[in-house]
This record gives sequence, structure tokens and C-alpha cells, in this order.
Amino acid sequence: MSNVQDIQLKKAPPGLEGSGFFATKLEQAIGLARANSIWPLPFATSCCGIEFMATMASNYDLARFGSERLSFSPRQADLLMVMGTIAKKMGPVVKQVYLQMAEPRWVIAVGACASSGGIFDTYSVLQGIDKVVPVDVYVPGCPPRPEQIIDGIIKIQELIKNESLRRRNSIKYKELLASYGIQ
Ligand code: SF4
Repeated sequence: MSNVQDIQLKKAPPGLEGSGFFATKLEQAIGLARANSIWPLPFATSCCGIEFMATMASNYDLARFGSERLSFSPRQADLLMVMGTIAKKMGPVVKQVYLQMAEPRWVIAVGACASSGGIFDTYSVLQGIDKVVPVDVYVPGCPPRPEQIIDGIIKIQELIKNESLRRRNSIKYKELLASYGIQ
């Protein structure tokens, strides 16, 4: 029942008692379906990727959150998970992968390196993937534990459930993309 908290059980109108029905908004129903069937694309370049492998394995079992279907094709993914140190030369690759994903798409920066460059405050390392793509959730840690990665997925699920269907066509969203040079 916890997965359908947004759907309110209404009392049947007089004369229809016993039949029962659910009332919800289309937007909420779509958000609920999307949030529980995320197809992540793991973009792992170093140590944080190992923690993601643990997150997928039986002890932590990301399948419990509907995200067990990994996609290594951006065309079939809706969540880009960047894990590891991203060299400046890799920045355009991350952006290209993001561009190849269809809307709606979301991004998680997993770990200190993907979020801010981490300990690598140096000329060759991108100081956070939000320099090249918009990021929805940042997961702290070096590396983050699997519980933290799962927490990041849950935060993304909350965002998806509460996102308006009109957001992707809004001027604000287009301005956000334009600030990254994405038309
Ligand atoms: S945040 Fe730490 S564990 Fe993750 S990729 Fe960077 S150095 Fe490795």
C-alpha cells in the first residue's frame, strides 16, 4: 500500500457502496509508474562504480526499487548515474551520453568526484559533472555506501513522482538546458 500513497481511496457514492474505486490524477499515476520503473545507465569510471555493483547485488538489491534493469544504451535509459572521477576530456562524453537520452531524463552524481571533483582538485579533473549537464541529485561520500546510493535513487523517485508533466516543456526548463548549451 505504501507505493500507492498518492492515490487516495475514496468512499463510493450512495447507491454504489461495496464496489469501491480509486480516484487520482493522470499526472500522479504516470509519476508513480515512472518512479518505480527507472532504467539507470551506470556511467562508472572508478572506485564509486564498485559500490554500485554492491548496490545491485543481493545484499542491497536495487531491484526492490524497480531499478534492476540497467541500460548501457542512452536511448533506453532515463536515469544517468555518473560514478567516479571524470577527467576534463571525459566531460564532452558525459554530455553526449546525456544528449542521447530521451526526455524525461534525470541525473545523479554519485560520490564526491562526480559531485565536485572530490580530492582531485587538479588541472585535469572536471570539478563536478554539473559543469556539463544538469544534476538532479548529489550523493555525498568517498565512496558513498550502497545505502547512500539507494537513498539517492529514492530522492529521484520523489522528484519523478512530484514532477509536473508540463515541466519538460516549460520555459524555465528550456532556460536550464540553454545554460548548458543544449537546445
Ligand atoms: S569519490 Fe572517492 S571512491 Fe568515488 S571515485 Fe572519487 S576517489 Fe573514488
